[in-house]
This record gives sequence, structure tokens and C-alpha cells, in this order.
Amino acid sequence: MAQPVQGQPNVQRPMLAPQTDPVMQARIEADFKPVYLAVGGPGHAFAFCQPHKVEKCDMCKLDFTALNRISKIFITNPNLRCPPPPTVLQQKLSQAVTNTKEEGNTLYKHNKHREALAKYNMAANIAVQRPPWESSALFREELSTVISNRSAALFELGDYLGALVDAETVVSIRRNWPKGHFRKAKALVGLRRLPEAEQSVSLGLQFEPNNTLQGGASKTHANTEGE
Ligand SMILES: [Zn+2]
Repeated sequence: MAQPVQGQPNVQRPMLAPQTDPVMQARIEADFKPVYLAVGGPGHAFAFCQPHKVEKCDMCKLDFTALNRISKIFITNPNLRCPPPPTVLQQKLSQAVTNTKEEGNTLYKHNKHREALAKYNMAANIAVQRPPWESSALFREELSTVISNRSAALFELGDYLGALVDAETVVSIRRNWPKGHFRKAKALVGLRRLPEAEQSVSLGLQFEPNNTLQGGASKTHANTEGE
């Protein structure tokens, strides 16, 4: 058995804390705001606001949605020791989104709008499974394309309000994509909210300077082309 050498007691040295920059530390302290959270939910790993026990609370101005989403991923994948780097993408997931969406597009082109809608719902459910540490740009692109097509299907089914809600989602996650604005304009026309429709068209045109007004909201041909 090895004996500790005299003068060098066999004790673990405490980990040296990294040198702190006092100015940086002061800034961190100045920004520090205590958050009153409660934990619970699946695996005691979900955060809630303390007074109201909700994940997203307007009164407390707290939103633990993203945190709990990551938490859930770790709970459901116990073998995942740490998130892979953000450059690692799940190609299978992209393929599944594309395939399901294209099945929807085929149905859409055959005027089977209700069946197409079901496929777009499915594709959206797949798209949102992308873990939050993977590329958010890809996530937004995939999801917005599917939701945009779903907006078109809802429009064809006469659900203009549903079409509008979807179009607004598209615009919110992919603002510089003209199609979202034109979808929104179409839905607004369906709802007879013409001044707002006009605003959406002109906003959409800002992101697509070569487009003409005729090619935008007033035509129905552009529903699923190329997406
Ligand atoms: Zn609260």
C-alpha cells in the first residue's frame, strides 16, 4: 500500500476557482434578478413560476417553455450525456419532413385538401421534434414551409381564420420569406379584411422586389410549387 509522502498529505486539493474579473463580476451581480421558480412535473425536472405553478406566466413575466423543452429531451433520452454540436443535424428528420410534406403536396394538387391537411399536420409534428441545439435556421425553414402549405390547405377548405393563424406563424418565424406574407394576404382576402391584405402584400413585396402585384395575393397557382 502506498503511503502518503511525508510533507505532502494525501488530501484532495480544492479546485481552484478561476480568476474573476471584478468589473465583470460586478456587472453580473448588477444584472442578477432572483427568479421564484418551483420544480416539479415529469421527473421533477420541469420549472414553473412559484406563485402560480405555470410554465409560462404573464403575471410573473417568466417563460420556462424552452428550458422545460430541453429538460424533457434529457429525461426522455437518458443515454444522451450532452447535446451534440449544433453542426450535427438529423438528416433522417429532414427527410421525414420533406417526404410527408410532399405526400401532402400531391394530395393537394389532386384537390384532396382534407387529406393534404392531415399530411401537413403530420409533417409539422415531425419538424418540431428537432432538438433545440440543432440549427434553428433549418428548423424555421422546415416548419415554416409546412405551415405555409397547411395555410393553403385550410384556405381551400374555407377555413380562412385557420389559414390566417398559420400564415401569421409563418411570418413570425420567417419574416423575410415573401410567401408567408402572400398567404396571410390571401387569408385576409378570404376574411374580407382587404386593407390588411393590401398591407401584407406590400410587406411581402419588400422581400421579393421582382414580384408583381398580380403574381402575389390575387392568384391561387402558387400554393405548393417548389415547396
Ligand atoms: Zn406566476
